[in-house]
Amino acid sequence: MVVTVSEGVWCIDCQTLDQPNAFIVEDDELTLVDAGWPGDVATVERGLQAAGFEPADIDRVLLTHYDADHVGTLSKLAGLDAPLHIHGAEAPILAGEELPPWRARHGIEVLHRLYYRRLTLPDLPIRALDDGDTIGGFTAIHTPGHTPGHTAYIHEGLSAVFLGDLAYGLNDDLHASGWLTSFNTREVQESIHALLEHTLPHYVRVPRPRSGSQGRTRSPPGTPRRLNR
Ligand SMILES: [Zn+2]
Repeated sequence: MVVTVSEGVWCIDCQTLDQPNAFIVEDDELTLVDAGWPGDVATVERGLQAAGFEPADIDRVLLTHYDADHVGTLSKLAGLDAPLHIHGAEAPILAGEELPPWRARHGIEVLHRLYYRRLTLPDLPIRALDDGDTIGGFTAIHTPGHTPGHTAYIHEGLSAVFLGDLAYGLNDDLHASGWLTSFNTREVQESIHALLEHTLPHYVRVPRPRSGSQGRTRSPPGTPRRLNR
């Protein structure tokens, strides 16, 4: 399913496991922000189609981080031929040159590492980015903590910010990435404070509640919400 968040911004409602979101952004170019699990490929293709696009139309992919639920469809989207932008700290993992570390996220990263060994990674150009880089209408903001290279993207022209897994939506609030799923929760808090130094007129990342939260609660996409500090 795809939901229009605001003019030029669509949210693809992925269905697999933790139900990550991917976003389609149209300004002068077409950008895909994050891409779901491998099993979300039909959902992402249908979402693109419903918004009036196909993978071949995508000019760039912006990745908030390397987690498999954000990069999983990239090797499967037929016709996708676009550069993948990801923070330099995580580009080697996306390139298949490194695996996620054994010891991180309180032991669960070992499962992610094993999953990654079987993950088909995309054969597309990878562009390593850093804090403050401009990519088209987006500005990359390095927001480490959930992962070391986690990056949020601000699009001032569309009044949108893409938070990735820095924070997730629950009821009317956004909650910080939690202890179990974060490399470093102190860095998560610092990243949120740093991000709030920027102008953030509109929150568009609308993830489902994660483990430890109650029920499936979702606010309407595009609803400005308070980010817990
Ligand atoms: Zn993640």
